[in-house]
Amino acid sequence: MNERAPKVRLFVTADLAPGATVAPTAAQTRYLLDVMRLGAGDAVALFNGRDGEWRAAVTPAGRRRAALAVEALLRPQTEPPDVELLFAPLKKARTDFLVEKATELGARRLRPVLTRRTGAERVNVERLAALAAEAAEQCGALAAPAVAAPERLDAALAGWEAGRRLMVADEARDAPPALTALRDAGHGPWAILVGPEGGFDPAERAALTAAPFVTRVSLGPRILRAETAAAVALALWQAALGDCR
Ligand code: SAH
Repeated sequence: MNERAPKVRLFVTADLAPGATVAPTAAQTRYLLDVMRLGAGDAVALFNGRDGEWRAAVTPAGRRRAALAVEALLRPQTEPPDVELLFAPLKKARTDFLVEKATELGARRLRPVLTRRTGAERVNVERLAALAAEAAEQCGALAAPAVAAPERLDAALAGWEAGRRLMVADEARDAPPALTALRDAGHGPWAILVGPEGGFDPAERAALTAAPFVTRVSLGPRILRAETAAAVALALWQAALGDCR
């Protein structure tokens, strides 16, 4: 970002174009007015994952409300690498960490999957989407990953999208190292799957091993916690095939 880019970045859903007026959410309004203490004319940056990043000016709209007047394009939209993250929901703080780090590391879509050994069964998709949006605002990304509704792992595999490869993080000793396995498999749309704290059960591992779209990879000789494994897997994918090369 250039030096004149506003400090405050907000992810919005509205279309962004010169002359548009965007209404911030209640939480964003509190953040702008109470936390950042912005006032009339102060600049913020807006992005929605489609139209690039825009400078907008705070315009007061009555007490405790503000509108954002879209002014000028700061950065055009770019297409990030196409990589999704499938993860088994963990305890709340660990899932939050996973969502934040996966966003920073450029996952395009976050897909909670329920496996046989998944510990946490409840997933608040909206809360996770808000966390992802905050992480995207903070790290300068031009899009925030969408968070999908939870689905069962077997259903996700049964309905697998044609042409998308799946990198499965597998702590079994015979899995090949990630960087080489990914480079051998090559470019195209990808997804990454990380298991729950208890790992995959034998039937799941067998189904994953048999699936033609799967590339099993090792993340090294140590057993990582699931949220660490998610961050490491994404970093290695970005290094092998993505935008960290
Ligand atoms: N089954 C293991 C722990 C699973 S760790 C046990 O209880 O002993 C949680 C998830 O992180 C795994 O399902 C796997 O997807 C990933 N993971 C952790 N360490 C890994 C490694 N060294 N290589 C590949 N994947 C790993």
